[in-house]
Amino acid sequence: MSDYKKTKIGDRDLMPETLMMSYGYDPRLSQGAVKPPVFLTSTFTFEKAEDGEEFFNVMSGRKPGPEGQERGGLIYSRFNHPNVEIVEDRLALLEEAETAVAFSSGMGAISAVLFKTLRPGDVILHSTPLYGGTETLIRGMMPDFGIVPRSFKATSSYDEILAAMCAAAKDGKLAMVFIETPSNPTNDLVDFEAVIKAIDVVEAETGHRPLSVCDNTMMGPVFQQAIPHGIDIALYSLTKYIGGHSDLVAGAICGARKVVEPIRRVRGAMGLNLDPHTSWMISRSLETLSIRMQRGGESAEKVARWLADNPYKKAKVLHLSLMDDAHTKAVFQRQCKGAGSTFAFVLDASRKEMFALINALQIFKSAVSLGGSESLVCHPASTTHSGVPAADRDASGVTDGLVRLSIGLEHPEDLIADLDHAFKTVFG
Ligand SMILES: *Cc1c(COP(=O)(O)O)cnc(C)c1O
Repeated sequence: MSDYKKTKIGDRDLMPETLMMSYGYDPRLSQGAVKPPVFLTSTFTFEKAEDGEEFFNVMSGRKPGPEGQERGGLIYSRFNHPNVEIVEDRLALLEEAETAVAFSSGMGAISAVLFKTLRPGDVILHSTPLYGGTETLIRGMMPDFGIVPRSFKATSSYDEILAAMCAAAKDGKLAMVFIETPSNPTNDLVDFEAVIKAIDVVEAETGHRPLSVCDNTMMGPVFQQAIPHGIDIALYSLTKYIGGHSDLVAGAICGARKVVEPIRRVRGAMGLNLDPHTSWMISRSLETLSIRMQRGGESAEKVARWLADNPYKKAKVLHLSLMDDAHTKAVFQRQCKGAGSTFAFVLDASRKEMFALINALQIFKSAVSLGGSESLVCHPASTTHSGVPAADRDASGVTDGLVRLSIGLEHPEDLIADLDHAFKTVFG
């Protein structure tokens, strides 16, 4: 394997932060350019006709690719191209997975995973709450194909998760367990260890192992990895922290080759590929991912502390550094390396007062989405979660008094000053 895929110096394994600047790109193939060009081409020439035959055999899964070339050679940009391969190689390193597949959106990634895995009569068990788009796809659309959705609460114990899996397995073949942790916007945590242990039991009893999938968008890969904890597929909306500048839409999955390669073929067949320019933007974003997420996390903790102690209005702050119930604490210590920078706070206030608070903010922009360099504020009950019936919304804690913040890269003292001014204006 040539040295652009080297991950060691002597015996030392290089850190992912170091490899984000170089791994998977060979300057010798691009006239020495230090950074990868954007390969704006739809198709690639075969040096000889035999190469075309070989590349198609590998791409279609009829033949394994040679070591380091498991995806086969370059054919056509719906299947692969240099910019997307760089992104995939680097994402796999970050998630400590064998390989990765990038998609044109997070929802595209989820769609391909569902399409490959589920057949009529199968059951999909998912944690709640879920991202709205995922909920629409799994609960609103999958039943049209004879797929049965079942759910369990994110904060469930091992016994509750096992009971939910056993009950689900009675309604059909339990083909997939889909989790999202931390949940949005309440930062409920799903316990990886409990999920895997329960899957082991289901496999022993039914002879079939459900595929485990974790939407790792909120904290991964810097503050949480799913693959090292035994989850089969770590799934990302790259639109959020990984893209990190609110200027693109993309998605990805990471996992073992035998799990992920068939889904790569679904991507090619359905046309859910990621284009070269967006791939290039993501490879640039990956260079700063670690420092962006670290800085966002540190600032979020400062903002969360200020909110918890603010002199104007009692606030319940759902930042993982401040949530200390036994379940959250134990799971957090086991599977997270940091508390992240998206969290909500809850006030005993009306929708009208919360709107006034949002309107009084000057640095925080009022918008959906999260994980960008700019700080955002969102009122989930009236926007992202407005499609959820009010009773269910209240039960899951997404009340009119809840506001979600995504903390960006502004100076944290300026963000606190912005909140202080807005709180004083509305509640002072
Ligand atoms: C945004 C988001 C998605 C969907 O990703 P898109 O890139 O918008 O398709 C899925 N899951 C989570 C947790 C998200 O935040």
